Amino acid sequence: MATGNKAPYKVYLEENEIPKQWYNVRADMKNKPAPLLNPATLKPMTVDDLSSVFCKELAEQELNNDDAYIPIPEEIYNFYKMYRPSPLVHAEFLEKALDTPAHIYYKFEGNNTSGSHKLNSAIAQAYYAKKQGLKGVTTETGAGQWGTALSMACSFFDLDCKVYMVKVSYEQKPFRREVMRTYGASVTPSPSETTEIGRKILKEHPGTTGSLGCAISEAVEVAVGTEGYRYVLGSVLNQVLLHQSIIGLETKVALDKLGVKPDVIIGCAGGGSNLGGLISPFVGEKLRGEADYDIIAVEPASCPSLTRGKFVYDFCDTGMVTPIAKMYTLGHDFIPSPNHAGGLRYHGMSPVLSQLYEDGLMRAVSVEQTAVFEAAKLFARTEGTLPAPESSHAIRAAIDEALKCKETGEEKTIVFGLTGTGYFDMVAYEKFNNGEMSDYIPTDEDLAKGFASIPDFGL
Ligand SMILES: *Cc1c(COP(=O)(O)O)cnc(C)c1O
Repeated sequence: MATGNKAPYKVYLEENEIPKQWYNVRADMKNKPAPLLNPATLKPMTVDDLSSVFCKELAEQELNNDDAYIPIPEEIYNFYKMYRPSPLVHAEFLEKALDTPAHIYYKFEGNNTSGSHKLNSAIAQAYYAKKQGLKGVTTETGAGQWGTALSMACSFFDLDCKVYMVKVSYEQKPFRREVMRTYGASVTPSPSETTEIGRKILKEHPGTTGSLGCAISEAVEVAVGTEGYRYVLGSVLNQVLLHQSIIGLETKVALDKLGVKPDVIIGCAGGGSNLGGLISPFVGEKLRGEADYDIIAVEPASCPSLTRGKFVYDFCDTGMVTPIAKMYTLGHDFIPSPNHAGGLRYHGMSPVLSQLYEDGLMRAVSVEQTAVFEAAKLFARTEGTLPAPESSHAIRAAIDEALKCKETGEEKTIVFGLTGTGYFDMVAYEKFNNGEMSDYIPTDEDLAKGFASIPDFGL
C-alpha cells in the first residue's frame, strides 16, 4: 500500500494477485514480427513444420499473433506459486547513494534455485512436453542459467533433459553443471563429438571454446534425431517472451497498487526474453495509445546486436539447422571477443523486440563491461543483492538515467529488471576485483566478419 509519498521498500503481491493469463504483445502490434521461414523454400513455417522440432502447443504459441491473452495452465500456475510473485523493490538505498531525485524500482527474478527469470518459461515448456507424452527435451545453455532452470522444470514433470553447455562455461562453472546433474539432467560440453555438427565444428575450429550458436545446432540435431524428444530454447522465441510476460504483468499490478507510473523501463537484452516479458504490458498500452514510456534495451558493447546489427533474415544458430528469423543480428558466425565476461552473448535478438525497435517503440544503449561491474558493485553494496552480470547491464543504465535526473533535477520514476543473482559468476567478479577486466569494443571490421556470414536470401 502506498503510504503517503513514501512507497514501502518491498511490494509483494498476494498469491491470488499472480496473473492467471500471459499477455501476448503481438496481438497489439500493428507491424507483426516477421514470420520464421524455412531456409530452403523461404515459405513461412507452419505449426506442422515447427512440430518436428518443438512441442505442438508451443509451436501454436510461436505462431499465434492474434490472441492477446493466453490462460496459464493450472499445473504451471501451481509451480509459479512456489517462487512467485517476485518482489518489486524500491531501491531507496541506491537512490540515496546516487543522491538523485529519481525514484528507482526493480523487479527481482533471482528468488528461485535456478537464480534467474528463466524458470518462468522452463516450467511452461516442460509442462507442454509432458502433456504431449514426450520422453524428454534437449537444449543448449551458455552461462548456465537456462540449463539449470530447465533441469528443475524437467525434474518436476519427470522428463529427461539433455543439456549442451558452451564449453567455456562448462569449464568455468562446474557448480552450475552440478546443480543441473542434481536435478537429473545430463550435461555435455559443446561443441562435442556426440553430434555430426559438433564433429564438423571441432574439425574446422579445433580448440574452440564454443558458442551458443554451436550448442543450439547440437541440441536441435539430437532432438530431431531422437524418438520422443523435442528441442526447447530459453530466449529469443515468441513463445518465450509470452511466458516471460508474467514479469511485466506482476510489475504492473504492483505499481498500480502503489499508484506509481513509471517514466523509464529498462532491461538487459541478450536474446530479449526478460526485457520482452517486462515491457510487454507497457508496450501494449503504448501500442493502444493509452500511455507512453521510455523503454530502454541495454546490451554489451562487445555484442551490440540492436545498436550495431542489421535487421535482416539470419539463422538462429551457427550450424544453420534452424529456421531463419528476421531480427537484429551480428551474423550467426559472430562470437564476442574472449575477454567478454558479462553474458548476453547471443548474435541475434528476439524478432518481437527487433520489430518494436525498428518501429521506434523502444530504444537501445550499449555499455562496457567494466562500467557494468562498477554498477554491480555499487548495487551489491547498497541494495544487498549480488546481481548477475547480465542484470547489471540494466543496473548500469538505470544508474546512468538516475544520474541524468540529478543534473536536470527531474524526478523520473525508473523501473528495471533485476533478472538474477551472480553467485555462479565469481570468475568474472574475481577478474573485476583484481583489476584484470578490460573492455573491448569490436571495430567495424570485426563486425564485418560476422555480417559476411549472413546469407543473401534475396528477401
Ligand atoms: C539469460 C539471462 C539473461 C539474458 O537473456 P534474455 O533472454 O535477453 O532475457 C539476462 N539475465 C539473466 C540472469 C539470465 O540468466
